[in-house]
Amino acid sequence: MKTLLPTATAGSLPKPSWLAKPETLWSPWKLQGAELVEGKQDALRLTLDDQDRAGIDIVSDGEQTRQHFVTTFIEHLGGVDFENRQTVRIRDRYDASVPSVVGAVTREKPVFVEDAKFLRALTSKPIKWALPGPMTMIDTLHDGYYGSREKLAWEFARILNQEARELEAAGVDIIQFDEPAFNVFFDEVNDWGIAALEAAIEGLRCETAVHICYGYGIKANIDWKNGLGAEWRQYEEIFPKLRESRIDLISLECQNSRVPMDLIELIRGKKVMVGAIDVATHAVETPEAVADTLRKALRFVDAGNLYPCTNCGMAPLPRHVARGKLRALAAGAAIVRRELSA
Ligand SMILES: [Zn+2]
Repeated sequence: MKTLLPTATAGSLPKPSWLAKPETLWSPWKLQGAELVEGKQDALRLTLDDQDRAGIDIVSDGEQTRQHFVTTFIEHLGGVDFENRQTVRIRDRYDASVPSVVGAVTREKPVFVEDAKFLRALTSKPIKWALPGPMTMIDTLHDGYYGSREKLAWEFARILNQEARELEAAGVDIIQFDEPAFNVFFDEVNDWGIAALEAAIEGLRCETAVHICYGYGIKANIDWKNGLGAEWRQYEEIFPKLRESRIDLISLECQNSRVPMDLIELIRGKKVMVGAIDVATHAVETPEAVADTLRKALRFVDAGNLYPCTNCGMAPLPRHVARGKLRALAAGAAIVRRELSA
């Protein structure tokens, strides 16, 4: 029987302190070589255990095998120079030192497929796997070769499709594309961003998701959010076109955000991963607070299409906080599930 209100996380979970510096985003690895390979696999077991014990229904790798949600994927590609980094402005918000595209981009080998097989062997639960979306990839790079954001996005879409097909074959049930850039570059999203995303999922039979959010709880994002006004209506710009797209699930930030819940009406018919856990605070939500957010969302999304989720990744949080938030998510979903079946 299909679980009603299946819980999931949006993305990353904290790494153990022996693998990477805790409470630090994009922290470098502490291990090397064969020890790093084994360390990542051990971390994967632990993050799965945390999700299982909390009662999360759709599990993930918690991004234990990647340092950064975009650049770790790009590191595996040809045509990118990681030595001579360039400083670019990310999502019009903050400067970062990033790799540079210096030739035709190619995927010479699978990136996460072995990790996905490893996770698949550990669990019989549905697995969701995150990849960066084409638009967010080009926004996290310096392009010294194509001279066109759109052209490079189409190249990345082709490469992502290769990876996605192999992840599906490895037993992944839901492939998610992280597209925080969708919340910033509305014209490009509607002109070619959603089309590029559809190219990335072409031919897939598994479910597909797009995660759009207001980012990790880092200062640049908090400052940006403070300037967005009383209501965050960014999703409104892109939902009509996303509703027409072939993407199955849409992941949104709803907990402690100023997103008017009625915007979800614009994607009626889609499955919605409702962020009911705030990742920008160490305060652990009560199950009742989670349930309250889910109840509000239920006015605009059918119960059969509602997936309780976190707002974004939890990598920078202390592990005990992240575990508490996972438990709160599962317990909050359970409250609403009981109400619905009463
Ligand atoms: Zn996010």
